[in-house]
Amino acid sequence: MGRVVVAGSINMDVVATAERHPRIGETVAGHSVMYFPGGKGANQAVSAAKLGAPTSLIGRLGRDAFGEQLRAFLASQGIDLTAVKDSAGAATGTALITLAKADNTIVVIPGANAEVSPEDVAQVALTASDVAVSQFEIPQATIVAFFRQARAAGATTILNPAPASAFDSALFALIDVLVLNETELGFLTGIALGDTPTLPQVSDAVRALDPRDDQTVCVTLGARGAVAVTGSKARLVEGRAVTAVDTTGAGDCFVGALAARLSQGAPIADAIGYANIAASISVQRMGAGPSMPTAEEVGALL
Ligand code: ADP
Repeated sequence: MGRVVVAGSINMDVVATAERHPRIGETVAGHSVMYFPGGKGANQAVSAAKLGAPTSLIGRLGRDAFGEQLRAFLASQGIDLTAVKDSAGAATGTALITLAKADNTIVVIPGANAEVSPEDVAQVALTASDVAVSQFEIPQATIVAFFRQARAAGATTILNPAPASAFDSALFALIDVLVLNETELGFLTGIALGDTPTLPQVSDAVRALDPRDDQTVCVTLGARGAVAVTGSKARLVEGRAVTAVDTTGAGDCFVGALAARLSQGAPIADAIGYANIAASISVQRMGAGPSMPTAEEVGALL
């Protein structure tokens, strides 16, 4: 069995609820403020760790109260934080979310996440059975260094190119499994898939990315499940019919579960089926971290 090693962002999500959003220059009284551990890197590490995979996180926190709280929370999830360093001067990554009825506005301050460096990833030794995971909330030069190191060790690399951004020219070739949603696929290819794309439509859009035959591209389709394309083969993994109450973090749950299963030696097709079940459990509960399922919960539905 290998480990899941995530290089990625760690944020505190500060959620203020109010009757309506303030206009520019206006102050409104809100109803409540809540603090949730977040950041795609941290969420994906929590997902993998809760599913029982030995998990390490590479990241940066500010020397502030959010940094201390996040470090304690991530440690309580059983994640190895040896490679989570303190920033000299930057604040802990923070997402300021204002929620008025169902509409939200979000300001994300990367803070310390912008400092996760090639030197940081070089400190973690990987082996051939490990799975290296990253997303676009840390500098791409760092992801390139991380994946080069992972491939040199024979480890598997998973990239979740979220939030949608253009690829560093060196990065695509270093990916074994690319996991992205329809918005990110649309951003990268210029192809809008619409509400109910067919399997051929999704696989044609994936082929516009020109993946190699040994790369797998997995497109998550919300309630409809996910499509996996490897070489000339495309397969739909149907979404499970559940009552979703909060889809925040569904994609992160999917990526963490996929990594956890691959680190246990599962073939990619099995791992995608497993991730689809895990994510379908997470959408039935509120929040990102707290909604991630355990191995027992997923195992009961396999
Ligand atoms: P993201 O959060 O990145 O936009 P998706 O919305 O595509 O990602 O969701 C990721 C995965 O979560 C899906 O592939 C599916 O497995 C699961 N999922 C999301 N929404 C639902 C839902 N309403 N019912 C069942 N499964 C869901």
